[in-house]
Amino acid sequence: MKIKSLFKIPATGQEVTVRGWVRTFRANRFIALNDGSTLGNIQCVVDFESMDEELLKKISTGAAIKVTGNYVESQGKGQAAEIQVTELYVYGEADPESYPIQPKKHSLEFLREKAHLRVRTATFSAVMRVRSALAFGVHKFFREEGFQYVNTPIVTGSDAEGAGEMFRVSSLDTKNPPLKEDGSVDFSQDFFGKETHLTVSGQLEAETYAMGLGEVYTFGPTFRAENSNTTRHLAEFWMIEPEMAFFDLDDNMDLAEKFIKSVLTYILKECEEDLIFLDNRLTQEDKTKPQAERSELSLLEKIKFVVENDFKRVSYTEAIEILKNSKPNKKKKFKFHIDEWGADLQSEHERFLVEKHFKCPVILYDYPATIKAFYMRMNEDQKTVRAMDILFPGIGEIVGGSQREERLDILKERIKAMGIDEEELWWYLDLRRFGSAPHSGFGLGFERLVLFATGMSNIRDVIPFPRTPQNAAF
Ligand code: ATP
Ligand code: MN
Repeated sequence: MKIKSLFKIPATGQEVTVRGWVRTFRANRFIALNDGSTLGNIQCVVDFESMDEELLKKISTGAAIKVTGNYVESQGKGQAAEIQVTELYVYGEADPESYPIQPKKHSLEFLREKAHLRVRTATFSAVMRVRSALAFGVHKFFREEGFQYVNTPIVTGSDAEGAGEMFRVSSLDTKNPPLKEDGSVDFSQDFFGKETHLTVSGQLEAETYAMGLGEVYTFGPTFRAENSNTTRHLAEFWMIEPEMAFFDLDDNMDLAEKFIKSVLTYILKECEEDLIFLDNRLTQEDKTKPQAERSELSLLEKIKFVVENDFKRVSYTEAIEILKNSKPNKKKKFKFHIDEWGADLQSEHERFLVEKHFKCPVILYDYPATIKAFYMRMNEDQKTVRAMDILFPGIGEIVGGSQREERLDILKERIKAMGIDEEELWWYLDLRRFGSAPHSGFGLGFERLVLFATGMSNIRDVIPFPRTPQNAAF
């Protein structure tokens, strides 16, 4: 039986078998066993007088075992029920001298170096169960909204977006690549007959599918070779990108807000126990921080706050006014001073707006065209585009989206102005040549959502094996 199922049934002395990994073994008598199905451990009580002594010696933290016994109401405090062991089988021992995950508090940094074993701790198993439930919540939401799930390519031949921050995919001999006459590498002899990269976004391809299936979403890995060693950036992360025909920017914002609220509501119900545990963990961690850095709300309160309150919608122009007149700007506390309209917002500005000014999730929209991508729809003012970013407390940007430019002539102008090769985008432009229609979409970084939902503070701790600059261990 799974321990999770066991905890749901009355303990009437019936015989049960469970399998898992030993969390602790104390007094040669009490085994706390965990199988990953749930946060809690089942207490297994062995009668050391009748048990084989050699067998008991093999039991220590980390060992994989099978236990059969009678499931009874517990005599001791701390648990409602326990298993009185009649049979014990050890699949694999874990030498206490060398097994690194001991029953004590390990730092998150230490556990990052043991990423292959860290899921055997309460914290990481809770985080990964929440992550898994969130992923299911994502598919459930879109399915119920009538969206189709599409898989866009991971290897991409178009470098229109994100030039410079992409990883190259190549099968050329690195020691001896074929060269062109000018001495540069001849990628026409590479595997795909051209230069190819790992995708930074599935959006452009998703748009083609929206223009036939109507409402679609992608949910897949994305890669960025940006050297930003922050607590919110990974080189490999998972992105959810819905794309909807006939949606304008307001529809897009409505959907994004409904989507985030829906998946958070889903985990509040599905992961209650794990979230309470993570809530306590965060409260403990907060106590070690200086007063000013502590959060006013607990994790559960933060999640409920997002679910229950409208996101504040603010135009870029309004935001700039607020920032210009803000205390940190006047006192020159921002690293990047805001003095005029058109400035790109840095994460310090985003966090000021969300955490200090509005104190709630904020949707910023209508950004200057100059700081946004070529495909965003130009507004009447010829200065701003129909972009929107959703900013979250503690996280910063969690969603980036826009209404897409559906007018061929304007799109071509924008492509030219940004110095992108139009030829590269012939298929994308075809969408504007044949049955073009207003449409919108956004990208949500899945790990940023998991960060928010679990209260963890480093994105390296919400993905099983993080890829960051200088690190691709495991
Ligand atoms: P940021 O300014 O935080 O770098 P961005 O503007 O580069 O974000 P977009 O290109 O709009 O982000 O990507 C959409 C979403 O993908 C972001 O809102 C964010 O949630 C997520 N995201 C972007 N880059 C990363 C990354 N390196 N690691 C994890 N998530 C990311
Ligand atoms: Mn970025």
